[in-house]
Amino acid sequence: MTDDAHHIVGRFAPSPTGPLHLGSLVAALGSYLMARVSGGSWLLRMEDLDLPRVVTGIADDILFTLETLGFEWDGEVLYQSRRTEQYREAAEELIRRGLAYGCGCTRSEIAQISSAPHGETLVYPGICRDGLPPEKVERALRVKVYDEVICFNDAVMGRYCQRLTASCGDFVVRRADGPYAYHLAVVVDDAASGVNQVVRGADLLSATPCQIYLQRVFQFPTPNYGHLPLVTGPDGSKLSKRDNAISLAAGRDLSKEGGGLLLGALHFLGQNPPASLATASSRDILAWARENFDPTCIPRDPAPFHRNADTPASTPL
Ligand code: GLU
Repeated sequence: MTDDAHHIVGRFAPSPTGPLHLGSLVAALGSYLMARVSGGSWLLRMEDLDLPRVVTGIADDILFTLETLGFEWDGEVLYQSRRTEQYREAAEELIRRGLAYGCGCTRSEIAQISSAPHGETLVYPGICRDGLPPEKVERALRVKVYDEVICFNDAVMGRYCQRLTASCGDFVVRRADGPYAYHLAVVVDDAASGVNQVVRGADLLSATPCQIYLQRVFQFPTPNYGHLPLVTGPDGSKLSKRDNAISLAAGRDLSKEGGGLLLGALHFLGQNPPASLATASSRDILAWARENFDPTCIPRDPAPFHRNADTPASTPL
């Protein structure tokens, strides 16, 4: 590693709530190659903050799967479950600066008032923003957002803009059930690890403006972002978890199947590995990819995943 300002620091940040799946394999490979192709570092972080959803043994299973596939990461794996103190300090800074407040609203109360008719993300209508109403007890901690449009240039998806007051409103940084929220942890950790390149699945594209907002509040640098297309089932539908899982725990023998999976992931990312790699080891495939990866070929649209791009119709996973 060097101190060079241009040294890329990328990362892969799986949540150990289930075995590695095709989508996370694509995110692992995409983030790894985007970093390594320019001689950068690649870090690994276990996003195990959401303890009720964390499955025992899965973090180790993910690491073992990545190792078996030939991935090498730099430094120690960072576990979010061991960094509560850092998140607490960040949350306290927000409170001290008058930027965060305790909120006593339940999801159903918000749903009743929120301008979003349905769907996952409800726009918080600001009920507790100017002080907790007397009948309420503090549940979550929210950060205040202001009426501005946040834009960034995504390396894959292009320019993306969002007005936080319209998309989510004041958002949660510590959840009602205890843990610090994903947005806060990600921003604190990426800054602490010097991450300057975030490559991950397109399901997180719309989460990025909230994270950029927090980076600005804390005066952290904003990394470069690249969001990779989502993996669908053969007919464009959502993949089931079972079909999707690729770890040893899910019954797959990666010493045999690993090369085919990596080649499939390379094709999925728009790369063109030579046919001579069809029988190569995972390590040799990754070595080829580190030399030849072309980020400009990554497609934007969701697509099915094929293990062997020469016969795509016959071997969908
Ligand atoms: N832990 C998240 C996931 O597994 C990824 C978070 C990120 O890359 O920022 O979907």
